[in-house]
Amino acid sequence: MTAVFLAILIGWIAILGAAFGSFFNVVIWRVPEGMSLISPPSHCPKCGARVRPFDNVPILAWLWLRGRCRDCKAPISVRYPFVEFLCCAVAALFGATILAGGWVGFTSQTLNWNEFAEYSAAWEAAVAAFEADPTQTTTLTFDAYWAAAQKAVALSFIWAFAAYAALILGFVEWDKGSVPKSLVCFAATIPVVGLLAIITLSDADVWGGRCGIFAASVGSGVAATLLFWRAISRRERAETAALGALWGFCAGYWGAFLGVAVLLGVAAAIRRKTGRNVFGLLVFAAIVALAVVESVWFATR
Ligand SMILES: [Zn+2]
Repeated sequence: MTAVFLAILIGWIAILGAAFGSFFNVVIWRVPEGMSLISPPSHCPKCGARVRPFDNVPILAWLWLRGRCRDCKAPISVRYPFVEFLCCAVAALFGATILAGGWVGFTSQTLNWNEFAEYSAAWEAAVAAFEADPTQTTTLTFDAYWAAAQKAVALSFIWAFAAYAALILGFVEWDKGSVPKSLVCFAATIPVVGLLAIITLSDADVWGGRCGIFAASVGSGVAATLLFWRAISRRERAETAALGALWGFCAGYWGAFLGVAVLLGVAAAIRRKTGRNVFGLLVFAAIVALAVVESVWFATR
């Protein structure tokens, strides 16, 4: 029962993640161009034909169209399904990590496999009692499952959005060589909104701990920017601080400062060789790597 429920839940989180990925493709493409996110609707850049609603399915549409426009057969970049796949996989991974019981600096949150197992046991006992004596009034309710499911989805996307913001900044930087202020502001708000959401969602007294992690997050962003002040161009300083804060938000106390210094060091070395700023993509990769390690650690503990 618990396993089925968790599989459905992670599947649902993954589908939501792919849908977000589809939207982020539009963000990565249009925001640096100063275009509206809503109009005109998605269309082929070559022939201008609108994307059919049934061809708007993340990842799969690209596969059944074999990477070509339905009308003019112009190739569609593999980047689109790739971003959708990354967002889908990240959401599923974060869902599994949250359900497996935690995050560095976040183990005091109350949601874990055991909680679902308890709901499952209560549910099965109620069903057994009802089958034994159908005349008795037994209340069969999914309320507890439903509450836990909502919490799991919300928590998964708090973390997923930290990774998504790094991904968006990373790809825009890769494409354009700079990131618009609006996207930097979007990235910088995520640790703040995330902190408030976690405090709202958590039953446990996590106020102090979360504020500490928030301070570590902002501190790591600012410290990284100061540390590499000379290596970072003026217009990149806010972006670097925001990315450092996103990393710190996910890594918690232990990884925040050291991790961001290592990532920026690697990014500086890559920039010297290639001339490209890949700090955003590195932060994204590091957050994902952290989630893989965490989910394995908590699931096998
Ligand atoms: Zn076309």
